Amino acid sequence: MADHAARTHLATHEVTNQPLLGGDHDLLEEDMALREALAREAPAWVAARLAPLAREAGRDTWQAIADEANRHPPELRVFDRHGRRLDEVHYTEAYHRLMHLACDGGWQAVAWEQEGEGGHQAHVAALYVLTQVEPGFCCPITMTHAAYPVLRHDSGVLDEWGPRLLANDYDPRALPAGDKRAATFGMAMTEKQGGSDVRRNTTQATRQPDGSARLTGHKWFCSAPMSDAFLTLAQDDAGIGCFLVPRFRPDGERNGIQLQRLKDKCGNRANASAEIEYADAWAHPIGEPGRGVATILEMVQQTRLDAATAPAGMMRQATLEAWRHVQGREAFGKRLADQPLMRRVIADLALETEASLALCLRTARAFDGAARDPHEHALARLLPALAKFWHNKRGPAFMAEAMECLGGIGYVEEAPLARLYREAPVNSIWEGSGNVMCLDVMRVMTRHPESIAALRQELALARGAHPDFDRAFEALERRLKATPDVLEAQARWLTQRLAQCLQAALLLRHAPAAIGETFCAARLGEETSPLFGVLPSHAPLDAILERIMP
Ligand SMILES: Cc1cc2nc3c(=O)[nH]c(=O)nc-3n(C[C@H](O)[C@H](O)[C@H](O)COP(=O)(O)OP(=O)(O)OC[C@H]3O[C@@H](n4cnc5c(N)ncnc54)[C@H](O)[C@@H]3O)c2cc1C
Repeated sequence: MADHAARTHLATHEVTNQPLLGGDHDLLEEDMALREALAREAPAWVAARLAPLAREAGRDTWQAIADEANRHPPELRVFDRHGRRLDEVHYTEAYHRLMHLACDGGWQAVAWEQEGEGGHQAHVAALYVLTQVEPGFCCPITMTHAAYPVLRHDSGVLDEWGPRLLANDYDPRALPAGDKRAATFGMAMTEKQGGSDVRRNTTQATRQPDGSARLTGHKWFCSAPMSDAFLTLAQDDAGIGCFLVPRFRPDGERNGIQLQRLKDKCGNRANASAEIEYADAWAHPIGEPGRGVATILEMVQQTRLDAATAPAGMMRQATLEAWRHVQGREAFGKRLADQPLMRRVIADLALETEASLALCLRTARAFDGAARDPHEHALARLLPALAKFWHNKRGPAFMAEAMECLGGIGYVEEAPLARLYREAPVNSIWEGSGNVMCLDVMRVMTRHPESIAALRQELALARGAHPDFDRAFEALERRLKATPDVLEAQARWLTQRLAQCLQAALLLRHAPAAIGETFCAARLGEETSPLFGVLPSHAPLDAILERIMP
């Protein structure tokens, strides 16, 4: 909220040297890196469609709404007042307004409505913008979006659920799907004895003569538990299968999905994550029997791209917070924004943000082109894991550094930095944790050599643009020749390096020289540091900083 009307003359002192808060911002118009990335990675309609969302999402009131949704997290309502089971989650009005912000514009649907024509770029750009409002509610948006390719395995399911998934009119009421125009989706894979290793799932599916199944078992994490349906893994005679479990059975009765408790989480407070029990729950099998993991991985590949994009959005918000603050604050007789060390820190945060955004939108283009172009198809297999791993490894340190730019008030809940800091680790953990992402990269390299070949081609396009990039690319090529056991031992290094080299290649080819060259020197050169703010002494800080908020 703008504090222009706030009193600065207090009884004992005057409030000085504190930046003015608030004001509305245009999250596309003021984001040069986003505008340029969209111009090169997406058809023109994407920026045009995003523009009204970016203007709306940048209105200051949304930050108050986001704060409200986090301060009043969802509450579990297991029973009604008469003791009948409800198994519902109550959210504040603020949460529902956030959901409307995304769904009224159809951002959970755009990737499929405009598939192959920029739909994925639009989805990713919107997620980057929406995350800057509040990351928690993006979880159900992501899962609803990501469920669609799995529904396509079954034409009956697609006819029934597809139009509801794509519908714009978000409807939070707990009603049978037939009574609602729009539906949201969740996913239930993780069990106590195995999360990464979902083959250890023990939830039992019993096939029924009418083709449906009944599920019995426990799921240890199930986010957005008020969703209208859940894509679920369970064991039957054929092995692990994928099942659609609706909140209400076809006869209109509540399905056997019992919410045991909500997780008390480090962050991600606006979003509910539950432990659930399937008690003879009605389910519709989807995909080939015994191929449930492969089927649900089509959803997970989508959610991984979103889990790579969310940190980029959070980085952008944190950089803006830090940059606006230091422009309105003086120390030792000079604005913080003019202090050389502070300029380096914020310039470096801006570089990381732009590199992450570039990689997300390049990956989105690969998703969108995958059906018609083998090169894009090959990249689409590899890039989500690279981006998800690396952006999220940068996230927590990034948020801590941005928080520190604000000094003491950065650590206080009134600024969004504390919330961003608590949120930062989650995208690294869910949808495949760090090591699992690295192992996935190694698996793709072994089983799909065309993917690493496609990545090499992308990197080669930037060869000759910067000596540090050329040296890093050559070193990478040498390491990639290692035997599989050596590769696995180096999986973290390789995944990091592949991601950074691709970020560098994209920036060298498409961003201004100040950005691409400084990024190469700082990330791939001889004096790299795990810290933010360690840039070459001659780094063109003015050019980098001017780009944050033109
Ligand atoms: C807030 C939140 C919401 C969630 N929502 C959902 C949801 O909606 N639906 C759902 O199904 N799940 C959900 N999850 C669960 C999440 O996907 C899992 O926690 C995650 O996949 C890791 O599984 P795990 O917890 O069993 O850890 P484990 O599988 O035990 O992994 C622990 C650690 O071991 C590492 N590891 C695993 N295998 C290897 C290996 N071979 N080599 C080296 N290291 C390895 C992992 O990278 C991880 O760091 C959620 C989790 C959180 C925190």
